[in-house]
Amino acid sequence: MKILIVNAGSSSLKYQLVDMLNEATLAQGLIERIGIEGSKLTQKVNGEKNVVKSPLTNHIEAVEMMVSALTNNVYGVLKSMDEISAVGHRVVQGGEHFTASAVINEEVLAAIDANCALAPLHNPANLMGIRACREIMPKTPMVAVFDTAFHQTMPAKSFLYGVPMDYYKRLRVRRYGFHGTSHSYVSKRAAVMLGRPIEELRLVTCHLGNGSSMAAVQFGKSVDTSMGMTPLEGVIMGTRSGNVDPAVLQFIMNSENLDINQMLDILNKESGFLGLSGISSDMRDVEEAAEKGDKAAQIAIEMLYQGIKKYIGAYAAVMGGVDAIIFTAGIGENGWELREAVMENMEFLGASIDKEKNKVRSQEIDVSMPDSKVRILVIPTNEEIVIARDTLALVGNTDH
Ligand code: AMP
Repeated sequence: MKILIVNAGSSSLKYQLVDMLNEATLAQGLIERIGIEGSKLTQKVNGEKNVVKSPLTNHIEAVEMMVSALTNNVYGVLKSMDEISAVGHRVVQGGEHFTASAVINEEVLAAIDANCALAPLHNPANLMGIRACREIMPKTPMVAVFDTAFHQTMPAKSFLYGVPMDYYKRLRVRRYGFHGTSHSYVSKRAAVMLGRPIEELRLVTCHLGNGSSMAAVQFGKSVDTSMGMTPLEGVIMGTRSGNVDPAVLQFIMNSENLDINQMLDILNKESGFLGLSGISSDMRDVEEAAEKGDKAAQIAIEMLYQGIKKYIGAYAAVMGGVDAIIFTAGIGENGWELREAVMENMEFLGASIDKEKNKVRSQEIDVSMPDSKVRILVIPTNEEIVIARDTLALVGNTDH
């Protein structure tokens, strides 16, 4: 059984074809610059890359391009798209409607559409990808997997903001949290690594990439997370500010004569590592500059370390302790310097890192000292496999 996973952005579309017999990736692709001059597709099969350049005006043409790459008789991997049993789509914002993945039908599409106001940068693009796939593959069952669903177990004391309740009741203003598939995946892997049932574990999961979020996962359920109604809240990120006193916005807007859209653009796209260092949004570039003595780069990195530490401490307190701290995503998996710095002086919590063992990149490994009560784990995330498994599970339950 082959499952196609699609992650559509406003001008890009990522896809991955997985054989569910052994969960092997058969092909991986990225279509860039949809609707912009210079559109291209890059497909990887067994480490071999093929690039196709052709103008694309919309997502339907992009899906057609993906279909012809997957079925290409030289570098493709399928004879026909009929070999695909189902498509799993990543959807960013499921709101309160979706507490789990869902088979896509008109009602589900309408509910995703209704959540567009909450995620204007993401949901409309996700929907374009879904609609294009349904048009090109009308008979193939499709499933939506939501970044927010895993966090729907949060209690009201975690998800509400301290603003008038009316805004929650009328407008659904609340914390939703993101990267749910990743937090869920690494929590389950942690239970396997520790050889203990997830129902008795208190975990702090740190998904640290271009976008970063932390979560408190108690007994298998998300009870708090750092991203909020949008993916802007929490620790500093590549280009996002993370937490800011909201009154700062008014002060900057008045001083610089900016409107709220310009202000939010600055917080989303020109802040974080990029804004603080003035160098790059990429951790590797900022680390390189810091090593060469750039003060602003050093401070940006220290701010991220401190932000992560604060969430670990807070979530340990909320859960009444912590059994394991998990690092995942681009920075969490690869940045051993960050793991070492974040875990420094955490012995008071019962956590001590083995500095030598920790010097690894992208491996599933326990990097804590043998006597550390809190286990420190590096777990490469695999959001695609969660989407593929959910898709299989749901489609298996339908008549398709
Ligand atoms: P992601 O969004 O999960 O793809 O993560 C992207 C981030 O991971 C970028 O900030 C990269 O600089 C960072 N990253 C990737 N490799 C490394 C590495 N070897 N050391 C530190 N950061 C890394």
